[in-house]
Amino acid sequence: LNNDHMIRACIITKAPQDYCLVITMHHIALDGWSSHILRKELSECYQAITKGKPIPVAPLPLQYIDYAIWQRNFLKSDSIQTKIDYWKAKLQNLASLQFPTDFSRPTEISREGGTVRFSIKKELISDLNSIGLKYNATLFMTLFSAFKVLMYRYTGQKDICIGTPVAGRDYQEFENLIGFFVNSIPLRISLEGNMRFDELLKQVQSITLDAFDNSEIPFEQIVESLGTKRELNKNPVFQIFFALQNLPENQLSEGGLLWSEEIQDNHSSKFDLSFDLTEVNGCVEGVIEFSKSLFRQETAEQMAGHFSRLLESIRENPANTVGKFEILTDFEKTYILENLNDTDSPLPEGKTILDLFENQVLKTPDAIALVFEGKQLTYKELDAQSNQLAHFLSSNGLQPESPVPICIDRSLEMVIGIFGILKSGGAYVPIDPTFPKDRIDYMIEDTKADFVVCSSDTVHNFSGPINRIILDKEMSMIQSMPSEKLPKSPSQEHLAYIIYTSGSTGKPKGAMVDHSNLLNFSISLTKIVEYNSFSRQLSVTTYIFDAFCLELFVPLINGGGVYLVKKEDAMDGFRLAQKLAEVKPTHMQATPSGWQILLSSGWNNPEGIIMTTGGEALGEETKNLLAQTGKLWNLYGPTETTITSTYKQMDVGEKVSIGKPIDNTAVYILGPDGGLNPVGIPGELCIGGKGVGRGYLNRPELTSEKFLPDPFSKIPCDRMYRTGDLARWLPGGNIEYLGRLDDQVKIRGYRIELGEIESVLLLHPSVNQAVVIAKENGQGDKRLVGYVVCSGAFEKESLISFLRSKLPEYMVPILWMEL
Ligand code: AMP
Ligand code: MG
Repeated sequence: LNNDHMIRACIITKAPQDYCLVITMHHIALDGWSSHILRKELSECYQAITKGKPIPVAPLPLQYIDYAIWQRNFLKSDSIQTKIDYWKAKLQNLASLQFPTDFSRPTEISREGGTVRFSIKKELISDLNSIGLKYNATLFMTLFSAFKVLMYRYTGQKDICIGTPVAGRDYQEFENLIGFFVNSIPLRISLEGNMRFDELLKQVQSITLDAFDNSEIPFEQIVESLGTKRELNKNPVFQIFFALQNLPENQLSEGGLLWSEEIQDNHSSKFDLSFDLTEVNGCVEGVIEFSKSLFRQETAEQMAGHFSRLLESIRENPANTVGKFEILTDFEKTYILENLNDTDSPLPEGKTILDLFENQVLKTPDAIALVFEGKQLTYKELDAQSNQLAHFLSSNGLQPESPVPICIDRSLEMVIGIFGILKSGGAYVPIDPTFPKDRIDYMIEDTKADFVVCSSDTVHNFSGPINRIILDKEMSMIQSMPSEKLPKSPSQEHLAYIIYTSGSTGKPKGAMVDHSNLLNFSISLTKIVEYNSFSRQLSVTTYIFDAFCLELFVPLINGGGVYLVKKEDAMDGFRLAQKLAEVKPTHMQATPSGWQILLSSGWNNPEGIIMTTGGEALGEETKNLLAQTGKLWNLYGPTETTITSTYKQMDVGEKVSIGKPIDNTAVYILGPDGGLNPVGIPGELCIGGKGVGRGYLNRPELTSEKFLPDPFSKIPCDRMYRTGDLARWLPGGNIEYLGRLDDQVKIRGYRIELGEIESVLLLHPSVNQAVVIAKENGQGDKRLVGYVVCSGAFEKESLISFLRSKLPEYMVPILWMEL
C-alpha cells in the first residue's frame, strides 16, 4: 500500500489491431460494484473517443475522500452506539463453529485457496424465486436460507453465524463512485425447534433486513466492540461467507469494444469457505472458494453437488422441516449404501458355532483346544465335558433360551461352563466374581435365572435363593452324565449370551445376542484376522467383555488352540511378555490400554504375532508402536451388535480409522434427523445387518429407542442399532471414530455410563448433588473424578466404600472434589 499505485494498467498487443487491456487494482481502491462502473465508463469513453465526440463522463459531485470524511464523522457520532449495541446483542454467546474439515486446523492458517465452480439452472432459480416471493423474500434470502440449512446439515449446529457482503452504497451520492465501500456483516440465524423451511425463510427475511439497517458499522469495529480474542488460524465471528451479486446485463459488446471475462482463480481464500454466487441472465453461477489448509478439492466439489441437490429438494417441498431435505446426490447415495456397504456373504445354513466346533472335534479330536496354567484339554475332552454339563443342566430342567449366569475365575472350568450352557440351549451371562454382591444379585434377579454356574471360590458371591452348580465340587456327578451331545442343539435364532453393560439410569442392562449373530461374527473374523488350525490364541481378556468371544470361539471353530492367561499375568506387562515368549501364540487381542502396558515393558513383538485391538479409541502413538512390530487390526463394535462391526488393518503413519463393516453388516452415518450424512460429515454411527442383537433384556422401551427399523435395508423387518458414537466416512471408504454423543466413557476398555455412577452416588444419605467425569491425564489415560455437593460432612472414604458396595471397582472415582 505504501509503495505502489492502487491501479495499474497495460496494453498488450496481440496482433495488429488486436489489443488486450489489463487493469489491476487493489481491493482498497475498488469493489465489485465499482468494477461495473469502471467498465461502463471505460466503454463510454472509448466510444466517444473513437467517434470523436466529447468525453461523456460528468464530473462527480462527490469524491471518495468526501465519503471517507463522512464515514469518519459518522463513526464519531453518538448515533452509532445503538448500532454497535445491536451487533453486540446479536452476537452474544456465539459458540464457535465446528465445521468438519479434511485436515485439522493448523496453528497459523495459510491463505492458500482453491476454487470450484458450479451453476444453478434458470428454471430452478425461477421456481425458488417464486417460493421466496410468497414470503417477501429476495433471491438472496432464499438462497441464503438454503445455505444455512446446508451448514446445519454439515455441522449439526443450529445456531450458526455466516458472513455476507453489503455494498455500502446507502446514499445516492455514493452510487457512482469508484472505491472501497463494501462491508461484511455477520448473519446469525438459529434453527431451534423443528423448523420448516418457510419458517426459516421468514426468520432470515427479518434478520437480514435488521442487519442491513445496521450495516454501516465496519466489520472490524463490530469485532473490536465484542472484544473477541483474535486467533491466527481463524477469522473472528464467522469463518464462512456467502454472497449473491447481480451482474448487470448487456455490457458484453459495446461500441466495437468486446468485453469478455477472463476468469482467474485467486489461488487464495479469505475465509475457511465462501460461496460466491452471481446472478447472470436468470441463472446463478457459483464459485466456492476454500482454504487449502482445511479442505480437499473433492470436498468442495461435493459441497457444490449438495447445495444444488438441496435446492431441488426445497423446490419439491418448501414446507418440509430443515432436517428432512435431501442433500446427497443419487450417486453418493448409491456409493454409500451399495459400495461402502457391499458386505453380503452367505452363512452356513442352519449351523451355529457349536456345529462348527463339533466339526473340528471330529477332524482333530486330539488336538489341543484349551490350556491354562499347565493343564490342558483336547478338542475331544472339551467337547465331552461340556456335553456332560449340558446333560446335567438339561436333566435339571434347563429350558432353551434360558439365561444362565456364570460366575467363575479364569480356568478350564470357566470355558467348560460356557460351552456346557450353550450346548444345553441356554444363554450364558458372564459375571465378574469381583463384582459387589449387590450388583451380582441384581443381574441374577434381572435374568430371572434358575441356575447359576460357579465354583467353590465364587459360590458365596451371591445371596439369592438360586440353584448353584458348583463346577469343581460337582464334577464327579457331572462326569457321570453322557458325553455325547444332547439330541437337540440350539439353532441360529436361539439366544447365545447376555452381556451386561453400564446403564445411564443407575442399573446395568443386559444386551442379548443370538447364535446367528455370533456365527456371523465368528465366520467373518476368521477371514479377516486369518485364523486356521495352526492358530494359537493367547487369551487375556475378561469374559465379561464380549471381545472374549473372539479369543474363544474363533480359534476353536477353526481347529486352533486357546491359551488362557491368569488375570495377574494379563495385567502386568513384564509377566505378559514372558507368557508370550513361553506360549509363542500366533494371535493376541487387547484393548489399546492393555497393549500399552505390554509395550511399556519393552516388548516389541519378537514372536511376530498378529495383534487385534478394540474396545476403545486407538491412539496414534500406540498404533504406530504396535504396527511397527507386526500386523495390527483395529476392531470396533458395541456389545449390542456382537463384538465387532467394523475392522481395519493399521499401518505405521496411516491415520487411525475403524475401517469398514464386516460381513453382512451395514454402517450408516446419520444426521440428527436420521438422514444419511455424506462422506466427511460427522454423524451418529448406526449399524444394521446380521450382527444386530436382540436388544436389552426386560427393557422394551430402551430397546425400541436404540434398535430402530433399518430404513435403508432391502429386507423388511431388519433393524439397526444407534450406537451413540460420532463418526464419519473418510474419502476412500474407511470410517473415522470421533467420540461419543453422550456421557458414555471407556476406561481401560470398560464401558461406563457416568450417569450410572451419579445415580448411585445420589443414593448416599449425605450426597445432594453429584457429577462424575472422566479426566484424561497427559498420557491418554483416563480417570474418574467425582464432584459432590454434600448435606452433611464430606467423607471421601464413606463415599468410596458406598460405591464399592454397589459398583465394580472400575466405576469408582479415584479423585474427589467437594463443591
Ligand atoms: P462395548 O459395548 O463395551 O464393546 O463398547 C462399545 C463402545 O466402545 C463403542 O460404542 C465405542 O464407543 C467404543 N469402541 C469400541 N471399539 C472401538 C474402537 N476400535 N475404536 C474406538 N472406539 C471403540
Ligand atoms: Mg466391543
